[in-house]
Amino acid sequence: MKKHVNIPIFVPHMGCPNMCVFCDQHAISGVSCFDRSAAEKTVVEHLASVPPDVGCEIAFFGGSFTGTDRSLMIPLLDMAERYVADGRVSGIRMSTRPDYISPEIISILKRYTVAAVELGVQSMSDRVLSLSRRGHTADDSRRAFYLLGEASIPTVGQMMIGLPGSSREDETDCARAICDMGAVGSRIYPTVVFFNTELCRMTERGEYIPLSVEDAVSRSADVLTIFEERGVRCLRIGLHGVDDLRRDGKAMAGPFHPSFGELVTGECYRRAIERAADALLDGGKTPGAITVYVPRGDLSAAIGHRGANREYFFSRFGFKEIDFVEKDSLLRYNIVLEEKTGHRRK
Ligand code: SF4
Repeated sequence: MKKHVNIPIFVPHMGCPNMCVFCDQHAISGVSCFDRSAAEKTVVEHLASVPPDVGCEIAFFGGSFTGTDRSLMIPLLDMAERYVADGRVSGIRMSTRPDYISPEIISILKRYTVAAVELGVQSMSDRVLSLSRRGHTADDSRRAFYLLGEASIPTVGQMMIGLPGSSREDETDCARAICDMGAVGSRIYPTVVFFNTELCRMTERGEYIPLSVEDAVSRSADVLTIFEERGVRCLRIGLHGVDDLRRDGKAMAGPFHPSFGELVTGECYRRAIERAADALLDGGKTPGAITVYVPRGDLSAAIGHRGANREYFFSRFGFKEIDFVEKDSLLRYNIVLEEKTGHRRK
């Protein structure tokens, strides 16, 4: 498959009258005001560094693109479409809120080569959405998916882990709903507390307790498993630019970790290997040396961040030796565990 990159243009908080408790778009994107003339410069600069065999899309991120004033949105779309027309990019994608998708917006988007609309669903619990002051409901997400689906515009569902009042079950329900609504992709973001947000004040008042990294990883792994089982590709796990957020002191609390996605994929492999090891040792068998076959390209995810999975299996099961070996025929998150004696279990 041809490699693909997004040319990201952050359009922060433009046109968004909402104030979700967790949101500080300026902290997240690193952009405090939008310079329209710089958008095309960003495209030109990125294109100059993209190898010819890599596909590109222009991506308007920031969370509320289709709520932006039309006098800004349409020239940006026109600019992006010119690059599609001359073949230098393959399409346009954008992130927006579910309640900013309407028949009028669909009729505008239909004029452009829209590769995907990414909807900030965040939760499908109206209680959680209300506690997070999202200003939209789960029905808005259903309606948006429906309108985009009718127009054959591919839709990605973005969701959050650890929102105020959200439980593990709320999050797995949300992942299932995103699959049911026809998403072609997903993104999983842990809730991080940024300074100067309502969530920061809620945390200071003790009304919100951020998730630990461990809990956020475990809950994200539950959700990722659902997306994988349903064939909905997860495009991203964790926030971008965590090192910058940490260095600049923008994040006050919560599960921000530079390798969050790696921790989550490692957790999925830990669970898969653990199931196979439990089955292998069922009946009191003495642990010996094992080989764990993993899908090609996923060796470091399976071994775990800084070898955490390998260490875990040595200490939990007492294996004498563990080798991890890549195998072409395996699909993601599938493993084969084999005793060095040749006994094989899946
Ligand atoms: S809708 Fe998006 S941009 Fe607006 S406040 Fe919420 S998260 Fe921020």
